[in-house]
Amino acid sequence: MARVKKCDRCGVIYQNNQVTKNCEVLGGINLCNRHDESLEETHKDLCDDCLRSLDKWLQEGSKVHHASEKV
Ligand SMILES: [Zn+2]
Repeated sequence: MARVKKCDRCGVIYQNNQVTKNCEVLGGINLCNRHDESLEETHKDLCDDCLRSLDKWLQEGSKVHHASEKV
């Protein structure tokens, strides 16, 4: 029986991820502490749409200028 997953961001039900990064199929995110150690309880399963959205968010960061940041 196929394992069914639920996206922790948008709630959609899905079976498999297909989005890849460096030849690995992605499945979600983990937050890290300042020592680059993954925090297990922060793991989030993400559907492909949310993984693409996350990737877009990361890419767009270089263009973002936070209005609250004053020099
Ligand atoms: Zn999602």
